[in-house]
Amino acid sequence: MKPVIVLLGPPGSGKGTQAARLDCAALATGDLLREAIAEDSDLGRRAREFTDRGELVPDELVVEILRRALAPLDGKGVVLDGFPRTIAQADALGDLLAERDRELTATVLLDIPDEQVVERISRRGQGRADDNPETVRNRLRVYHEATEPLIAYYEERGLLRRVDGSGDPDEVAERVQSAMA
Ligand code: AMP
Repeated sequence: MKPVIVLLGPPGSGKGTQAARLDCAALATGDLLREAIAEDSDLGRRAREFTDRGELVPDELVVEILRRALAPLDGKGVVLDGFPRTIAQADALGDLLAERDRELTATVLLDIPDEQVVERISRRGQGRADDNPETVRNRLRVYHEATEPLIAYYEERGLLRRVDGSGDPDEVAERVQSAMA
């Protein structure tokens, strides 16, 4: 069966960079939301009030986005970047995959300290609306509160692989590969 991999980690931990290096179709809910916002679709308008503040978009909206994005990828390996971010989303992911006769292969946690998050995002300079220091602090707070409990969730299920996410992206990519081997 083709793999389904979740990349878990705080904002700025390199999930997007590492997702692009895996031989899988990468689905980033943050990117999908930014596309919906750029299109000014109904969903985009509803999402924007949350993304602008660094808050989580309600579970049902992101789960729906992911359901649509997964549908054409049955025969492909998939790496998820930025989803799930809550326990409810993790449960929904299990259901979505079961509906498609798939299952989660592994969750890779990219571990980096908060100070590096702030430093990396300020260097990243993509000019994203939610990259200002105040919103970054809020995104980190939300990560610790809502998303970090997923570490225990996946650990209990024997799916968690911890990787040191600091340092050079090539080195991190090697650590990711050996964690999944
Ligand atoms: P990201 O590009 O992953 O940092 O996501 C940017 C923003 O999109 C986040 O700060 C949230 O507002 C929203 N977002 C992305 N993925 C999710 C998700 N799985 N659940 C809720 N909100 C999300």
